[in-house]
Amino acid sequence: METQLTWYGQSAFRIVTPAGKVLLIDPWLTNPVFEGAKEEIAALAHVDLILITHGHSDHVGDAVEIGKRTRAKLVATFDLSAAIVSALGYPSELADIETTGHMGGTLTLLGGEVAVTFVPAWHGSGVSKDETAPSIYAGNPTGLVVALRGGPTIYHTGDTDLFSDMALVSRFQKIDTMLVCIGDHFTMGPARAAEAVKLVGPREVIPMHYGTFPVLTGTPEAFEGELKRRKSKAQLRVMKIGETIALGAG
Ligand SMILES: [Zn+2]
Repeated sequence: METQLTWYGQSAFRIVTPAGKVLLIDPWLTNPVFEGAKEEIAALAHVDLILITHGHSDHVGDAVEIGKRTRAKLVATFDLSAAIVSALGYPSELADIETTGHMGGTLTLLGGEVAVTFVPAWHGSGVSKDETAPSIYAGNPTGLVVALRGGPTIYHTGDTDLFSDMALVSRFQKIDTMLVCIGDHFTMGPARAAEAVKLVGPREVIPMHYGTFPVLTGTPEAFEGELKRRKSKAQLRVMKIGETIALGAG
């Protein structure tokens, strides 16, 4: 089976590995642009891992609800995991040392089906119970490199600005698919995101974190123009919200 990738809008993805393992990244399904979130969440009968890049609510999203029901293990840095457990109530027995790491480290999970490496991102990471509650310390934000056995290696940038050390991500693992934020305002916009793609050199690139709110003004069209201007060899794949695509092997 080929790897399946579903985009729910913002930075939320579902990955189904060639062996049928189910991973969610930054699972904010109840975002303003994904219709049918309640039905989709109810239909997520089996989830193995929930990966979170940082503590903001548009990334933690529906993780606690989904985790409690599916018993998915939480994959996050030490500080973020502790904040999600203590402040938001993610079951602590599903957030133990096996799936908790930190930047530069690789976790080998699900019997070697999945290897997750935490890499830097330039952003914030505080966790809040709700919009009026004070922010709780959750460490530094990250990007995630997710290497699938028999499938591609995927780099999810998290929320970040462009930084030159992104070039180091692909020095250790060739990146097949890069999921890159392009929305501007809170993260890179199209021009800086295209520069990030040049640094990483993936085979294909999928834009995310745009169009969810009016202030996230970056568009796939502008991003495409910026990639062309830089003569990027990465294939641009623009996903529709709720769409599932197949990803080739590495
Ligand atoms: Zn965000």
